[in-house]
Amino acid sequence: MKQLVEIDEWTVVQEGFDPEHQRIYESLFSLGNGHMGGRGNHEEAYSGDTLPGNYLAGVYYPDPTRVGWWKNGYPDYFAKILNAADWTPIRIAVDGTALDLDIAEVLAYRRTLDLRAGDLKRSFKARLPNATMVDVDVTTIVSMARKHLGAIRYRITPVNNVTLHLSLQVNGDVVNEDSNYDEGFWDEVSQSAEGHRASVVSRTKKTQFECATAMAFEVRVDDVLVDPATEAVTATRFASVDLELDVAAGQTVDIIKFGANATSREMPAADVEACCHDVLDQALADGFDEVHREHVAAWARIWELGDVVIGGDPAAQQGIRFNIFQLNSTFTGDDPDLNIGPKGFTGEKYGGVTYWDTEAFCLPFYLATSEPDVARNLLRYRHRQLDRAIENAGKLGFNRGAQEQGAALYPMVTINGEECHNEWEITFEEIHRNGAIAFAIFNYLRYTGDDEYLLEGGLEVLIAIARFWAQRVSFSEAKQQYVILGVTGPNEYENNVDNNWYTNLMAQWTLRHAAEAIDIARSLEMDGATERVDAILDDVDFAEATERSRWSAIAEGLHFPSDPARDIFLQQGNYLDKELLTVDDLDPADRPIHKHWSWDRILRSPFIKQADVLQGLWVFEERFDLDTIRRNFDFYEPRTVHESSLSPSIHAVLAVRLGRLDKAHEMMLRTARLDLDDINADTEDGCHTTSMAGTWIAAVQGFGGLQVIDDALHLDPNLPPGWTELTFQVQFRGAWISVAATPDGVTIHNRSDVASDVRVGGTSHPLDPAATLTLSA
Ligand code: BGC
Repeated sequence: MKQLVEIDEWTVVQEGFDPEHQRIYESLFSLGNGHMGGRGNHEEAYSGDTLPGNYLAGVYYPDPTRVGWWKNGYPDYFAKILNAADWTPIRIAVDGTALDLDIAEVLAYRRTLDLRAGDLKRSFKARLPNATMVDVDVTTIVSMARKHLGAIRYRITPVNNVTLHLSLQVNGDVVNEDSNYDEGFWDEVSQSAEGHRASVVSRTKKTQFECATAMAFEVRVDDVLVDPATEAVTATRFASVDLELDVAAGQTVDIIKFGANATSREMPAADVEACCHDVLDQALADGFDEVHREHVAAWARIWELGDVVIGGDPAAQQGIRFNIFQLNSTFTGDDPDLNIGPKGFTGEKYGGVTYWDTEAFCLPFYLATSEPDVARNLLRYRHRQLDRAIENAGKLGFNRGAQEQGAALYPMVTINGEECHNEWEITFEEIHRNGAIAFAIFNYLRYTGDDEYLLEGGLEVLIAIARFWAQRVSFSEAKQQYVILGVTGPNEYENNVDNNWYTNLMAQWTLRHAAEAIDIARSLEMDGATERVDAILDDVDFAEATERSRWSAIAEGLHFPSDPARDIFLQQGNYLDKELLTVDDLDPADRPIHKHWSWDRILRSPFIKQADVLQGLWVFEERFDLDTIRRNFDFYEPRTVHESSLSPSIHAVLAVRLGRLDKAHEMMLRTARLDLDDINADTEDGCHTTSMAGTWIAAVQGFGGLQVIDDALHLDPNLPPGWTELTFQVQFRGAWISVAATPDGVTIHNRSDVASDVRVGGTSHPLDPAATLTLSA
């Protein structure tokens, strides 16, 4: 595989036109602002291979499930965030010939994603089939400061005297490449074009989201505003304004195009179009430079809160900044109905829906790098879907009477609270996601100290999940223990196994913690806490004495498979029956195995897709001593093929703890550069957005040693060979702490006016506001 982008600390650069990898670059050059976003498609026509993609957060369609033999419990549909109307097209003809880089001779081509500024620049020189030549420079943003707005400055300089035909379009006539039945997902509502404006309003089929996309533009020739005659064109879900300009050789035509999106998810349907026009009016009044300046300022604030500086390793530096950029482009945390799709706004795969990735991987990142509301909104998302999760458990045969009620099984894949994946064996059985959702509440409370959240949803969710485990276990007469049968652990390369150690661990923890959380909530120092807890318990018909004692009996009596000979935990009861090969035994030509082996062969093999036992050791790190971590790491890692993007980061953290810094560095880089280097050969489908949080986990929790234990922030920096610096920022309980580690020591600075306390290598150091602490290694 060729090196796709130049290595640089703040930019991602594609030098030279490369149609063969166009889809990969479109993924890498995606832009978003948490509310809207899209792939890095060309603005002018492109007839080569391309995946057009523009997405509106939360606007989805329930695509009917495609399945051969239907079984009870299958989800009816796979919800997907839809490819939505495109506000970006600027189609150009030069002396009657279309500017299309698939057809033109491309003499120079460069794309630069500026991570600090959050803008995408593209410049090229092309000779068209009619021998005319143009120089083009484009700057695109999806505004971080104005959530409905995007802006393009398209600058074209013909080398000859030419007539330019410009068509400034809104194109809602779009489809999803991954539609199950090749259906169109949008109904026409209206389209209009007039003067320098065009808009398209469409409605999603079934879900009835009404969405407006509008554009407004202005044109300058050598900096002078021009007002040529325009022609309005409309067709089904399409609107454009076309015009012609005679341009002398060397004159520069600047097209400023603003695009706006608004949806009935956020406002009444009757207002969506007017909202777009207001947004466009304001943008035109302020001008491109001001809109761009505000956008850059908003990104500056994001970087101030969450940048990670890695000295001495530009590849890791670029990787982590690209990952932080994509995470913030995907989720800004101001809307509890939104979440983080595994591919963000960068592609269709995984449909933009919510997985356990959010709680297990993304939450730690947002906890440390954003205001507490952002992480809280991720918890509220699940709380708002609690009723659906209880219904979902009901559909699968739980909640069958007074003794068994109120259990919630959160979906593995969802957008509106209903389960919507169609891979039954794998995803339905991954009930471990329930554990991650429960643990996220604890993680949030541990990090923020905001225990009152228990009264605002936390407790209800914990109880409902604990009730699920209490119903889902069965008692084995043979073992005289509780068992959890028929599950898939995080390792999706084994399905329908019994007693997945990680799943059982999460179940046991939830059963214990839900009971503790009730006590914590009762003892909150706030007026009426006890009464509110009683009201919540009453509301969910909680039979406190019997339910708690059953939870405790199950937690005590749950089976955990282990191998006494090796003194390790067993991934599942029968793991040792497998032929215990390691990845070194694999023929490199067979990798990745999911592309070369039958599913049957994979399921029988010992090869592990992603951290499973090790995921549990990471979650509850403080419970396990280093020897236990080492023995399990040495058994499982050599059998792990890391074919999930979520895998290497967890291994990186554990490898740091074991002092294996080279291994940790290798794993961290694999996550950090997964998309930039197309390591899994699938970036063409979109970026691996949720796993990008793993890069942050590897750097900050791994090499920075960040943990929260007993209400205090712990640090224990350990840099891999070659790193001269690791600097990161964390928000912690109102304080804003900056940590700069080098091989010689660490400097910790309190940037806020809230006093804090940090423990470094186990010793406590009070940190006054604005104080700086320097410790040598
Ligand atoms: C992983 C899952 C993950 C999903 C979405 C799969 O490949 O095995 O753990 O939830 O991708 O990222």
